[in-house]
Amino acid sequence: MVICTHGHVDHIGNLAMFSTGCPNKLMIVGCDIAQSPDRFLAHDFRSGIAYELDEFVRIVHTPGHSSDDVTVLVRTSSGPLFEAMKAEGESEITVAVAGDLFESEADFNADGDAQWMSRSANSEVQTDQRKRILHKSQAVVPGHGPAFRVKPEFQRSVSVEEM
Ligand SMILES: [Zn+2]
Repeated sequence: MVICTHGHVDHIGNLAMFSTGCPNKLMIVGCDIAQSPDRFLAHDFRSGIAYELDEFVRIVHTPGHSSDDVTVLVRTSSGPLFEAMKAEGESEITVAVAGDLFESEADFNADGDAQWMSRSANSEVQTDQRKRILHKSQAVVPGHGPAFRVKPEFQRSVSVEEM
């Protein structure tokens, strides 16, 4: 299975490496899902319906950076990322593998909005999606930097009441 959050070349440049040798692979690029070799699967991401891989992993539409961006939400209770990102007392966290919905933790610096917004197809829509994901996850794997913990001040900057 290969999941690309969106179709920008810096995220899919090596996709062809996965095109052979896996007869039943599932390939997801943004809102497109294909089961090899050439069977496209219809899924209505744009109506807000998550694509559930299992009880721990689901893919949700998070447009803005591009119209087709998706985020992979992973519920996890073990492994190096869980150990690095969990807060005291947490036995499970949700990690958002978010592509360029968040470029890096530096998005939250004083000049951070100007940076990610300059590369956004629709920064208003992306802002709404960023809020949604910040309130659904405890950690984010961004498109261009190390994973980071969702800090309370990140969530406070986008209160639920605004959503
Ligand atoms: Zn991109």
